[in-house]
Amino acid sequence: AKAVGKACYAVFDQTMHRHALERLQLENDLRRAIETQQLQVHYQPIISMDTGKITGFEALLRWYHPQRGMIAPNYFIAIAEETGLIQTIGQWVLREACQKAKLWQLTFPQFPSLFMSVNLSIHQLTYPNLVEKVAEILTETGCDPRYLKLEITETAIAQKAETVIPILEELTQLGIQLCIDDFGTGYSSLSRLYYFPISTLKVDRSFVSGITQSTNGTTKIASAIVNLAHSLGLEVIAEGVETEQQLATLRSWGCQLAQGYHWAKPAASPQIEALLASCPCW
Ligand code: C2E
Ligand code: CA
Ligand code: CA
Ligand code: CA
Repeated sequence: AKAVGKACYAVFDQTMHRHALERLQLENDLRRAIETQQLQVHYQPIISMDTGKITGFEALLRWYHPQRGMIAPNYFIAIAEETGLIQTIGQWVLREACQKAKLWQLTFPQFPSLFMSVNLSIHQLTYPNLVEKVAEILTETGCDPRYLKLEITETAIAQKAETVIPILEELTQLGIQLCIDDFGTGYSSLSRLYYFPISTLKVDRSFVSGITQSTNGTTKIASAIVNLAHSLGLEVIAEGVETEQQLATLRSWGCQLAQGYHWAKPAASPQIEALLASCPCW
């Protein structure tokens, strides 16, 4: 039995070693990914449920690795955070997204107030000079701060509330808007988060996908979140809407904005430009 145990450890060791090597390799690859243009920003339309028209976009990062193909952001963003590369990468995403927001407003006058929503890691939020950097990128790209939203997860804000609040205040003084992302997945209450300078609440996909005709627990909670957010004067964006039924239910709750595969998946800028040119109305 002992011998078997040993053999097991040997295999386990080798696997761990292989994972560590693979990880190190990916770190190195990620360092080069920006210069070699392997990173791309995709954009997912956010729809106004009243008009059925595109009102804005969420910028979502993509990595096309030359050997491994597409690597999911959930995986490589963790690497970027651990190595500090998130600073460079995050600023690059913000610059790209602000450029596109400005360009699309000019190119498509039928969409004069498209907003752009960009994800911000807690590592970016607590990094010195974030506010100056954001201001610099806004000036450089000519993007009107009114049309920029920054998304910060509920967990990130709640964990470091004391550090984060002054930074959020400074960001709003630039004239940009702040969203709480993935709301409902952490453990904080909306009544507490309300005291943060936020304008928008994004209801997590796990709630939206749980919406059914029968009023089950998830449906009740989702409906309560939307109601409370509205009564606190917050804008609500429902994430991950995939079905007509989810759409109808959200609409009946008075939810104004939504994104999801029901309308469009995130896509590269040429596809988005073609979509805007066709001026879709759902
Ligand atoms: P997130 O911010 O919650 O982004 C929403 C995710 O839901 C995206 O996954 C999007 O493609 C996906 N999604 C949208 N609609 C639907 C739908 O109807 N059905 C389903 N099944 N999925 C839908 P994605 O692009 O894989 O991004 C995953 C996460 O990676 C993001 O979650 C965000 O936390 C992170 N991320 C992506 N880009 C960036 C970035 O530029 N900076 C930072 N810090 N994080 C990013
Ligand atoms: Ca997000
Ligand atoms: Ca989200
Ligand atoms: Ca999420």
